[in-house]
Amino acid sequence: MRVIKAEEMGICIGIKRAFSMLKDVWMNNHGQMIFIYGDLAHNSHVMDSLRKHGFKTIYRASDAVKGSTVIIRAHGISDRERASLVEKGVNIVDATCPLVKKNQDIMRSSEFDVLLLGIKGHSETIAVEGTARRKYYVIQDGKDLDDVPKDRKYRVIVQTTLESGRYEMLMRELEDRGFSYVVSNSICMASEMRRTSVHKLKGEVPFLYVIGDKKSANSNALVSEARSIGLEAMLLEDDTDIDEAFISRFDSVGITAGSSTPASVIDRVIRRLENI
Ligand code: SF4
Repeated sequence: MRVIKAEEMGICIGIKRAFSMLKDVWMNNHGQMIFIYGDLAHNSHVMDSLRKHGFKTIYRASDAVKGSTVIIRAHGISDRERASLVEKGVNIVDATCPLVKKNQDIMRSSEFDVLLLGIKGHSETIAVEGTARRKYYVIQDGKDLDDVPKDRKYRVIVQTTLESGRYEMLMRELEDRGFSYVVSNSICMASEMRRTSVHKLKGEVPFLYVIGDKKSANSNALVSEARSIGLEAMLLEDDTDIDEAFISRFDSVGITAGSSTPASVIDRVIRRLENI
């Protein structure tokens, strides 16, 4: 089977940076316990491999141990959790992606109440919410605006990995409903480039596999992006998810991957498809 790869796919610069910081900690560790706060990347293969190397994951500061090192995930954490880590006397290694940090800074210093366009419950959204000094609303769908008062001006902050279709839909809602706002659009270029690459595959392939974890917002966003332009697409966690009977109906297939999908997983998928 002919496999056509997207021009831009796989691990992004923010996750690469987090791994490089983690590697430094590991190489220079002298017997202290090392914790990762949250999933360093939303990918079960990555997290399994970290566990095998002895890294422990915590999901709240109270689980950290005094004197240990805690690496903060690329999606960041709330100010309250950070303060608890400091109180606990741990060595903090902050691998928060600079773009997420930028959104946290904007939230922290906003002169207006905030409309945070993002996916509710996503770790980045929670981390940005956790730096708020003013009232804020998380807006995932148009209906989330129903109860938002229109008597004031808002600062609009955008989750870095929000799909552009959802962003445009929400901005149209704000306009149509007569909201007054200023926008800080921090949609990440890495995510944008991955989406543009999907558009380029339309017309070249009849079907697209997006390799990524079910929990990965940007991988799911790539599936939605493909479908929104009429390219049939499916999320694939790894090569074991390939349904040979299904995919062999096509003579070629496109491949892309979310920004937390390791190259080794992508390579295995490609090898298996090429052998069909
Ligand atoms: S997808 Fe973008 S914002 Fe998210 S970690 Fe990667 S570079 Fe940072």
